[in-house]
Amino acid sequence: MNWIHNPAFRRFLLSNFGKKQFFWKIVSFVLRFLKMQSCIFCKIVNGEISSRKVYEDEKVLAFHDINPQAPIHILVIPKKHIMTIREVNEDDKDLLFSIIKTCNKIADDMGIGEKGFRIVVNTNPYGGQTVYHLHFHLIGGRQMRWPPG
Ligand code: 5GP
Ligand code: ZN
Repeated sequence: MNWIHNPAFRRFLLSNFGKKQFFWKIVSFVLRFLKMQSCIFCKIVNGEISSRKVYEDEKVLAFHDINPQAPIHILVIPKKHIMTIREVNEDDKDLLFSIIKTCNKIADDMGIGEKGFRIVVNTNPYGGQTVYHLHFHLIGGRQMRWPPG
């Protein structure tokens, strides 16, 4: 912890701390870091928790849901920690395209591309979200019903 006493570091903090933007950047970085520490899906991404992977590249991971709601139930997630679909921004365009491409590839690989499937993104409490790391449920292998309830 010696770096805290480093005069150059202290000068840097003092000269920037008054600036609102800098302050909120630090706060959001710390909050994001703390959330990632306790996030189940981040732990699956870094291998701390095991999963039955079906696809992986540098940005996207897909694995079987632990509690499947249909014969095929895959979770497709960004490796980057994004809490909900509401936190997605302009910089994530390519990432979202990769996720959709991955869903289509898995659906084809599992033989449900043509028959059909459902992609669900539960969001916040009323949306039924329980894990706060963005994930796309790819569900198939049976007739889906509507309304979903
Ligand atoms: P949500 O309710 O947030 O839309 O979806 C979270 C999903 O994650 C649920 O379908 C749940 O079964 C799944 N899930 C929760 N914990 C784990 C886990 O440790 N491993 C896997 N593979 N799936 C999980
Ligand atoms: Zn996460």
